[in-house]
Amino acid sequence: MILQVANNGLLRTMNYFCPMAENSTTNVSELGEFGLIKHLTKNVELHNASTLLGIGDDAAVLDNLAKQTVVSTDMLVEGVHFDLMYQPLKHLGYKAVVVNLSDIYAMNAEPTQITFSLAISSRFTIEALEELYEGVMLACERYKVDLIGGDTTSSQSGLVLSVTAIGEVNESGYISRKGAKENDLICVSGDLGAAYMGLLLMQREKNVFLENPEIQPNLAGHEYIMERILKPEARRDIINWLNEHKIHPTSMIDISDGLSSELFHITDQSGVGCRVYEEKLPVENATKLMAQEMNLASSTAALNGGEDYELLFTIPQADFDKITASDEISVIGHITKAEDGCKMVSTSGSEYDLEAQGWNALKK
Ligand code: ADP
Ligand code: MG
Repeated sequence: MILQVANNGLLRTMNYFCPMAENSTTNVSELGEFGLIKHLTKNVELHNASTLLGIGDDAAVLDNLAKQTVVSTDMLVEGVHFDLMYQPLKHLGYKAVVVNLSDIYAMNAEPTQITFSLAISSRFTIEALEELYEGVMLACERYKVDLIGGDTTSSQSGLVLSVTAIGEVNESGYISRKGAKENDLICVSGDLGAAYMGLLLMQREKNVFLENPEIQPNLAGHEYIMERILKPEARRDIINWLNEHKIHPTSMIDISDGLSSELFHITDQSGVGCRVYEEKLPVENATKLMAQEMNLASSTAALNGGEDYELLFTIPQADFDKITASDEISVIGHITKAEDGCKMVSTSGSEYDLEAQGWNALKK
């Protein structure tokens, strides 16, 4: 296999599919459970004053420093959430951490610690797990969070990862899903749908490869959409920007399941409706091109794709001028009364009901 992952963790080229680390031979049993944990966590560095005690005892000890504590957990299951045929382990470790940090940022909090637990089957070698942890450590370093513990156990079949992220926020500074008010503006960071198109591309190339292993996957030129699915980032920069500009969203959520589903979470919990405009949805050119190639409306990818890990939030209309100062934030619609429902206005001007599980009008 030739899968080149640059040292800084960015995906460079991906010429061949690679089921796990090459030349990896060292069986986990050579180290034993305790040896393995020690080995994998030997380079852990602590960045936060709130971490009083990290890995190595029966439990970690934190000092919440008079702030409020935010906690979130996500589980990633092989075959359900990732496919090791095209997901390099280093990227997987990175992603497993980042998707949890994204939840903490979506509360307007600062992540400070994580725990990382894994269940592994005997086909995983020490080298493979080293790769996984390289990604974990890279994310911890980039986002300045402390790895303070976890659990390691065996699995009969695939790999299971569970990450818990802990964060802090000033008293009552957290932002939930339930504060959206009528006439608030609906904003989204970055661009949408790219991760989904990256996923479809890799699934397509995997199928070609399985049918004929002589044919190399054709992934050149698709780095952006692949990186979006394989190695997403959490929008710490957006949270910082909003705080610097004294914009306090009335509700916020991160986009893991797709814009449409997340809009429903906000409107349900806030007791409101919404109207979003197809032409306002931020979609990168690379996403549009791949959607075209696959005969899919790019707004379908944007609405229903998921795994973008962008932030969706609402702000009072009075903050409109302030928000336009950011190139990274798009205003895509506004909040309405609950009885007006959740609508999408298409580019041609017609109105559709949004659906949590997909926008049927476009899917037809
Ligand atoms: P216990 O038997 O008390 O659960 P373990 O042997 O499971 O202790 O864990 C020992 C220490 O190593 C604890 O601090 C635990 O949080 C940490 N640890 C275990 N597995 C992992 C892992 N996969 N990643 C990081 N830390 C881990
Ligand atoms: Mg344990």
